[in-house]
Amino acid sequence: MEPVSPSLETETVHGGHPVDPVTGAIVPPIHTSTTYARDSDYSLIGDYLYGRHGLPNYPPVEELASKLDGGAGAMLFGSGLAGFAAVVETVAPGGLVVAPRVMYYGAQQWLRRLDSLGRIELTLFDQRRPEALEEAVAGREADLVWIETPVNPTWDVIDIAGAARSAHDAGGRLAVDSTAAPLTTQPIALGADLTFHSATKFYNGHSDVSGGIVVTAERDQQWEQVMSVRTHQGGVIGPFEAWLLLRGMRTLYLRVDRASESALALARHFEADPRVDAVLYPGLESHPGHQVAKSQMKRGFGAMLSIRVAGGAAAARSVATSTSVFVPATSLGGVESLIEHRAALEPPESVVPDDLLRLSIGIEPVGDLIADLETALGAST
Ligand code: PLP
Repeated sequence: MEPVSPSLETETVHGGHPVDPVTGAIVPPIHTSTTYARDSDYSLIGDYLYGRHGLPNYPPVEELASKLDGGAGAMLFGSGLAGFAAVVETVAPGGLVVAPRVMYYGAQQWLRRLDSLGRIELTLFDQRRPEALEEAVAGREADLVWIETPVNPTWDVIDIAGAARSAHDAGGRLAVDSTAAPLTTQPIALGADLTFHSATKFYNGHSDVSGGIVVTAERDQQWEQVMSVRTHQGGVIGPFEAWLLLRGMRTLYLRVDRASESALALARHFEADPRVDAVLYPGLESHPGHQVAKSQMKRGFGAMLSIRVAGGAAAARSVATSTSVFVPATSLGGVESLIEHRAALEPPESVVPDDLLRLSIGIEPVGDLIADLETALGAST
């Protein structure tokens, strides 16, 4: 009898490695040792040397993450930003980095800092204009183009294949932050050199682990450098956190599918609501990036959306503090829905409107979420 060749979804549910051949355990153990012994020839007994070089709890997560993004390898970090900083560290001194004007503010602030120190040259492009990236690199040698799609927190959509062409024409590499669109976008298949996830978000899914994942299209020299930066800069993740991450990833498909369906239903419900000036969600036909989103998002439009509250910043703040199902907190990608008034976190140079509320949709029944937002909007506007 031929064994069934399982789908990637099944492999994910099984945590990549179903059964330990030695003990029969169907869940891997947590290896807490930070140092690894040698034999009588002074050779390492196993594949491990020392904690900062990687631990036995990393490969199950890294192998699964690499498969999920169609990569040639993946590396785990102690936070999303640790992984991001490791990639940026590989840019040559003074090299050009190009990124969207709206993106996760923490990553952009790090780029601005490196630019102000003369370590890199940073150019920001207007992610709402499809031709803006090509214009930003025209006639220039770029080192790294870093994009996010959909961008956090306005959820504009960037054409990944087009961005890859622009980056490669300029002699650079394209890295795509896919934190907000796990499973549904496959940046490497569309031409990206690296895919990145803040694993703190959907990959873990339970708001109790900080982690980052970088996936590479090729095990090339630049990848060796990223590995070296992790080892020497030390942005590693602990064994327990890596183990928890694998546990969270087992339900990634279920959680993402459920939350994406709810996000679309919620976006449609509030699209024409007069208390809301705009619903920003790529799944809506009215979204300017909907056609590109349709072509590059293959499993729903994600679980993230924002609303612009009629009545401005004060009304938005009032809604964010009037919900009882949505939790007013930062972050995203957990099983519980979160609401956030972004103005409280965005830096002074941010172009994000101050009436914007970011919603991270969780896995609660969508009826509860809609009713909660209805009530909060009713009380506040
Ligand atoms: N990228 C995106 C899109 C994010 O939303 C975040 C965090 O909010 C990060 C990167 C940074 O990840 P971490 O907080 O795990 O360092």
